[in-house]
Amino acid sequence: MRYQLNAEELKFEAEVEAFIKAELDPEIQRRVARSLEVAPAMRNEWTRKLNRVGWVAPNWPEEHGGTGWSMRRRHQFEVLMRKHHAPETQGFGFNMVGPAIIKYGSDSQKSYYLPKIRNAEMQWCQGYSEPGAGSDLAGISTRAEIRGDHYCINGSKIWTSGAEHADHIFLLVRTDPDAKKQLGISFLLLRMDAPGIKVEPLLAFNGKRLWNQVFFDDVMVPREDRLGDENAGWTVAKNLLGNERLMVSRVAENKRVFGRVQGLLDELGLVAEDDFKKRLNAIEIRLKSLESMALRLLSKFDQGGHVGAEPSMLKLQGSQLIQAQDQLLLEIAQYYGLPADSVLRGQSNDPIGPPETEMIASALFHHRGYTIAGGASEIQKNIIAQHVLGL
Ligand SMILES: Cc1cc2nc3c(=O)[nH]c(=O)nc-3n(C[C@H](O)[C@H](O)[C@H](O)COP(=O)(O)OP(=O)(O)OC[C@H]3O[C@@H](n4cnc5c(N)ncnc54)[C@H](O)[C@@H]3O)c2cc1C
Repeated sequence: MRYQLNAEELKFEAEVEAFIKAELDPEIQRRVARSLEVAPAMRNEWTRKLNRVGWVAPNWPEEHGGTGWSMRRRHQFEVLMRKHHAPETQGFGFNMVGPAIIKYGSDSQKSYYLPKIRNAEMQWCQGYSEPGAGSDLAGISTRAEIRGDHYCINGSKIWTSGAEHADHIFLLVRTDPDAKKQLGISFLLLRMDAPGIKVEPLLAFNGKRLWNQVFFDDVMVPREDRLGDENAGWTVAKNLLGNERLMVSRVAENKRVFGRVQGLLDELGLVAEDDFKKRLNAIEIRLKSLESMALRLLSKFDQGGHVGAEPSMLKLQGSQLIQAQDQLLLEIAQYYGLPADSVLRGQSNDPIGPPETEMIASALFHHRGYTIAGGASEIQKNIIAQHVLGL
């Protein structure tokens, strides 16, 4: 399947591009294009602009401020946003806890949380993994004991991305230690400034604070801040992504990075080098096949077909392709790609090579996480083997 736009899609493309041209601050665009850090305030400003035109939550139902778009339309929107270097909205709010609140929340939870997420007035982080529970998430041991109309939480969560900026966390806790492990878990919504929460930084290979470990020491949470039924948190967690799993292919991001590879080869006068040409072609073929597979599944869903475990193939291929592109970028840039990027170097010092090269090593290290987070590649392969190939 080739990705060709029909007349209506071309009209939509023009509308989205006109909006981006009018509203997206060129400084934000420059930062995203170069993989430089985008401050939360800048991202929030863009989120609010999207909210004003009703495009901020393409995956939410219309009655909750979503767009009601088909999957294919969402894909088109996403590709355009990444192509023009718009920052991503906060995934934990829009793609994870927001849809979970829509599905499992009480009316008061919906009316309290959803408008604040849409307008970037609330920043979330995800409290799932623990030092002893990652791929085997049902093995969590952070405890929530009932004390009157509160839970008292003790334990810790690890690899918590963005906890240093977040004002809320959604949390999986064990509420029944005697039940079968999936049956004794509840899903809570908490404020990060609750007494007894401590956030410690964890640094990634590139020296940046990518994660945190979050400690809970007798943290009291009202029982009404539970999402879904008590001991039914596993169902909430499993459904959390819902159809979102279909958007895990990273096609749009891969296309954006592909543009960078082409641009850098051009800038450094290496376009004609045989080895690079061959590798670029090989990557382009992988990218096209990834997009075809994604579009096939999105169209199947839009036509009412059942999409089972197949998105695991998108996750596996999309995350591996980003890493292959990073590797190629580093080989093209060579030593220009190695020095510390501007976040560690201090914004005032110039990079040593062309500006396009300065974040390459940093991005390569950052993207190592893509084949781990959200279910490691080995887990995706297990799912594909069992549920797609029936082995
Ligand atoms: C960039 C990044 C951001 C993250 N952000 C968050 C976050 O915000 N919140 C959060 O809660 N967590 C987050 N995580 C944690 C992530 O969810 C876990 O790292 C992931 O689930 C794997 O768990 P683990 O690290 O405990 O590895 P383990 O589960 O211990 O796995 C170790 C290795 O063993 C393999 N393995 C495990 N089980 C099997 C099996 N059954 N068959 C074959 N191989 C297996 C794995 O594939 C992996 O290679 C993040 C991780 C990364 C890398």
